[in-house]
Amino acid sequence: MGYKIAIDGPAGAGKSTIAKRIAKQLGFIYVDTGAMYRAMALYLLNKKIDPKDSDAVSLNCKDADITIRYENSEQVVYLNGENVNELIRTEQVGNTASVTSANPDVRKKLVQLQQKLAADADVVMDGRDIGTCVLPDAEVKVFLTASSRVRAERRYNELISKGEKCDIDVIEKDIIERDHQDMTREISPLVAADDAVLVDSSYMTIEEVADTIIEMTKKGK
Ligand code: C5P
Repeated sequence: MGYKIAIDGPAGAGKSTIAKRIAKQLGFIYVDTGAMYRAMALYLLNKKIDPKDSDAVSLNCKDADITIRYENSEQVVYLNGENVNELIRTEQVGNTASVTSANPDVRKKLVQLQQKLAADADVVMDGRDIGTCVLPDAEVKVFLTASSRVRAERRYNELISKGEKCDIDVIEKDIIERDHQDMTREISPLVAADDAVLVDSSYMTIEEVADTIIEMTKKGK
């Protein structure tokens, strides 16, 4: 069956950084589910589908061929045969993914893919609905959060270090809007599972958060 660690939480809480680190330390596979919703959003954007047109999204999502491969221990997302790991990392794709991920057909298709990847493997999977929906039997469930300001600051620093121009207030506003969309959607909203442990990373280092979660696996939680 494999050992499952589910990490859910809002945008920018540090889920992927932490999940990658834990996976490396424990020798588990890291599954980034947000990347799959992003790849789907990119597909719909390329096809010029209105993200809010639910019927069009339902119809078109079926043709998107999203495949996950592991190359040098890193997750690579292929969209119709093309490596889109870089292309999915824009604000536009992230914001579109937040809208199109509310579609039930998009979710059904991607949840199936995620469950297939986790079958029989030891995984650290991060997203919004992993503990509640994708891996309800996960041995360890974490709800990782941080204040919207801290999350905006982290994103701001990341963009600045890449030489991009940005405004921290706009980033924070986008983060708050994305949280609202993710938390209020009808299907699989962003919510902590009843048995998840809440970890607020606002004033914790990456090492502290990773160690906290690794301790939980030792206790078999
Ligand atoms: O985590 P990331 O920012 O890459 O996710 C992009 C979007 O994909 C999120 O805002 C959310 O709407 C959606 N998502 C989701 N369920 C997941 C992972 C991501 O709905 N398990």
